[in-house]
Amino acid sequence: PTPQAPGQTGPQRVAGVDRILAVGSGKGGVGKSTVASNLAVALAREGRRVGLLDADIYGPSQPRMMGVSKRPGSPDGKTIEPLRAHGVTMMSIGLMLDPDKAVVWRGPMLMGALQQLIGQVAWGELDVLIVDLPPGTGDIQLTLCQRTHLTGAIVVSTPQDVALLDARKAIDMFHTLKTPVLGLIENMSLYICPECGHEAHIFGHGGVRDEAARLDAPLLGSLPIDLETRLAGDAGTPVAAGEGAMAEAYLKIARGLVA
Ligand code: ADP
Repeated sequence: PTPQAPGQTGPQRVAGVDRILAVGSGKGGVGKSTVASNLAVALAREGRRVGLLDADIYGPSQPRMMGVSKRPGSPDGKTIEPLRAHGVTMMSIGLMLDPDKAVVWRGPMLMGALQQLIGQVAWGELDVLIVDLPPGTGDIQLTLCQRTHLTGAIVVSTPQDVALLDARKAIDMFHTLKTPVLGLIENMSLYICPECGHEAHIFGHGGVRDEAARLDAPLLGSLPIDLETRLAGDAGTPVAAGEGAMAEAYLKIARGLVA
């Protein structure tokens, strides 16, 4: 694929890729990567041709969540062959690195790695490419929004104030970079006791909905704290690949995204 036409400036399209959706968050640990992998799998189950790019350079978790560990090949020494898992074409910087070594890279190296991931991976024809961003508002987000034509961004947050505060910064960044915010996803919204059915709002209640209303952006979904989601992610088979309420919830969000 050739993302850059010679002489062109501004955000470039990725050849063969219809839309690119970035999944971001203000804080780490709110479930951004979990949501990204599950949305990718759900979109694939809905019959879309889906790619998943793990651009979380500092903490790539998609190889584990999608259950892939093979190092991608490069038969011609230029293009990188992506991997396939759960119906999704995927690539992660984590697959090119030693998983036990910390990444200590400067800005220009990061940009090079990101451009390589987007431009040199043989994505093929895709309806949707989901990009799992690093948390926060750093160089990766900036470069991606400025150089690549994004259809829009989805921001994941828990209802907790500290998470929302940072989510607001991420949303402001997308606005500044003129990347449309397609909506918010509230993760870990609620805990339902499997024994007695009691509902507990462990991280607070209503904050993400209020934020979405303030921004006039849709609340794309609210996902509870769910043991199966965590176990499935750790086991490399996202919960959206199975049956049950969580898979249904992700399928519903996916349908809304591509409706
Ligand atoms: P981030 O990408 O925002 O850093 P992750 O997706 O890596 O967050 O999630 C952090 C941890 O929380 C992971 O162990 C993941 O399995 C777990 N997790 C995410 N969402 C949920 C959820 N809805 N219920 C239970 N555990 C979750």
